[in-house]
Amino acid sequence: MNHPNTDPSTSTDKRYVGRFAPSPTGALHAGSLATALASRLDALAHKGHWLLRIEDIDPPRECPGAADSIVADLLALGFASDAPIEYQSLRKVGYEQAFGRLQATSLVYPCACSRREIADSIARSAAADAAQTASVYPGACRNGLPKGREARAWRLRVDDTVIAWKDRSARAFEQELGTEVGDFVLRRADGLWAYQLAVVVDDALQAVTHVVRGDDLIESTARQILLQRLLGLPTPQYLHLPLVNGADGEKLSKQNGATPIDASRPIETLNAAAVHLGLEPSGTTSLSGWWRQAVDSWRRSRWMTTGRA
Ligand code: GLU
Repeated sequence: MNHPNTDPSTSTDKRYVGRFAPSPTGALHAGSLATALASRLDALAHKGHWLLRIEDIDPPRECPGAADSIVADLLALGFASDAPIEYQSLRKVGYEQAFGRLQATSLVYPCACSRREIADSIARSAAADAAQTASVYPGACRNGLPKGREARAWRLRVDDTVIAWKDRSARAFEQELGTEVGDFVLRRADGLWAYQLAVVVDDALQAVTHVVRGDDLIESTARQILLQRLLGLPTPQYLHLPLVNGADGEKLSKQNGATPIDASRPIETLNAAAVHLGLEPSGTTSLSGWWRQAVDSWRRSRWMTTGRA
């Protein structure tokens, strides 16, 4: 793609680094494309860098060929990463090191609980206490592994930490981790690294300053800010955007088989994503012209005016 703002050597605001970080669990669909577009337009509007990172750390959830198809579709639509594409499957040393640093804080503990045991325990306490939040880890292993049990996963103790942050969507969030999330997993029972740890490590290693992503990840943001603080890493500015829903009102997702986008008709496909973000569709027929107009439209949009970076 040949866009005036994509050459990192010219007029680049070094303070802005954005990224799109899809998990290759399926092809790009209308929802993930809208997120990709928002993150790229925000980077272009700030004359910053935009990076593409494939979050392929969960092979059981991966769909064969999805990573390549996401990259190919994005290229066909005129998205260009300002640095070589990163793959999380190749960056595991960083997760191991960060995990070691967290272990040194004594906040990390081994957990022997199976999913079944956790679900049963939650069901029991929910019956006794209506305020019990579904899915909060009840803490059975917090004070040591029960006798005769072996570590399966590794969790981070959150105690009564409260994390508050202001989103660039002009919303303020606060999450009490102990009651709303519970001690969360850093290394899973199958030995894989948890998304929360990997995303924090990579956002920092890639010097990401601005994260633009879907509202479905708001629930994760407090955990990520906590990890950044514990690891002494900077917290990027967050902008969470409304999700694209399907005809049934449910969030579109790769897992529920959302229709893949049609990259062979780039302008139509990009216009549909732009309209979802509240931008004007463009009548242009050239891809570079489309991107130019879209950046102008993003600059005038509520995402830029409410969310000054
Ligand atoms: N890999 C995550 C996903 O595809 C997104 C990570 C992020 O943007 O923080 O849902």
